[in-house]
Amino acid sequence: MSKLFSLTLLVFAILFVGNSCQSQTPPVTSERETAVESATTQQPPLYTVVGVGDMMLGTNYPSKNHLPPNGGADLLTDVSHILQNADVTFGNLEGTILDEGGTVKRCKNPSLCYAFRSPESYIQHLTNTGFDVVSIANNHTGDFGAAGRRRTKEVLRDAGIAFAGLAGSDEIAVFERAGKRWGFCAFAPNSGTCDVRNLAYAKRIVQQVAAQSDIVIVSFHGGAEGAKNQHVPKKRETYYGENRGDVHAFAHAVVDAGADIVFGHGPHVTRAMELYNDRIIAYSLGNFCTYGRFNLRGAAGIAPILKVHVDGSGQFVYGEITPIYQAKTHGPKIDSQQRAIKKLQELTQQDFPNTRLKIYDDGTVFRN
Ligand SMILES: [Zn+2]
Repeated sequence: MSKLFSLTLLVFAILFVGNSCQSQTPPVTSERETAVESATTQQPPLYTVVGVGDMMLGTNYPSKNHLPPNGGADLLTDVSHILQNADVTFGNLEGTILDEGGTVKRCKNPSLCYAFRSPESYIQHLTNTGFDVVSIANNHTGDFGAAGRRRTKEVLRDAGIAFAGLAGSDEIAVFERAGKRWGFCAFAPNSGTCDVRNLAYAKRIVQQVAAQSDIVIVSFHGGAEGAKNQHVPKKRETYYGENRGDVHAFAHAVVDAGADIVFGHGPHVTRAMELYNDRIIAYSLGNFCTYGRFNLRGAAGIAPILKVHVDGSGQFVYGEITPIYQAKTHGPKIDSQQRAIKKLQELTQQDFPNTRLKIYDDGTVFRN
């Protein structure tokens, strides 16, 4: 009895002291506030890079019925302020830009073929939203053959958007923004693209980019697809009999070779993030703006917009996740349920429990 009594007294004492402390001292600084303060006071200036996943703003093939209303002008309105507000904005161009023509391979019934040909006028939606650089290494870049590739590159060049991802011809892009030289290269497992499965080749390309630039962004389109493949398996992934690469080994190899920011996409769903050698890796940014011909059910209908703040050498300082969702009738909208943040917290905890990243409930990401 007396032991229990003294224990009760002790509990009361702790509660009392605790309460009186709270009322007399200023509020304790939260873990997040401390992280913000130390990150933002750290050796300015910082550089801001936005990354998003797959983009296909509508296709005029097999019919113009697959195009969005109002010439696509409304698709990105809800998120453009986030994308514009960065030094560099990146996305994966999942298709071709071509008004008509081109050759569709292996397609007996056009209504069943997923070949993407966006009107050339749609490029203005990307420039108006602040896109600086896109990947053309993916499984749709060759949808309309050589004519599709050629016109896509011309339209991007005319719009002042940098691009890379085709083996031999377009392996490297270097451009200037905010007083820095930015290097970019992009990889995929698909014919004609820079091969995500050839690590020795990828390292060589990244070393070439790094030699010409201050901060290096590497994009990859890889890994298996769908809600059943949201984890990073840390081994080679096969999907419908196709080798889709070992994206974990790839991401580490390119960082070792000089990459500062690695943006992954291709699985059509969100995957974990990792901090490796102080460089940020996002394993899949999911479907960002994929109008009409895409499955947007469940995990495929939500995605993060990832804003990364790095120092002048490309080291990760902090990040911000804006969660978005899509439906058949509209482009990305900000998700009040914040599902992509929760998914990134969960997946990062499960797949990379020891990585030095902390994702807060409001979407800010800090090193810990
Ligand atoms: Zn794809």
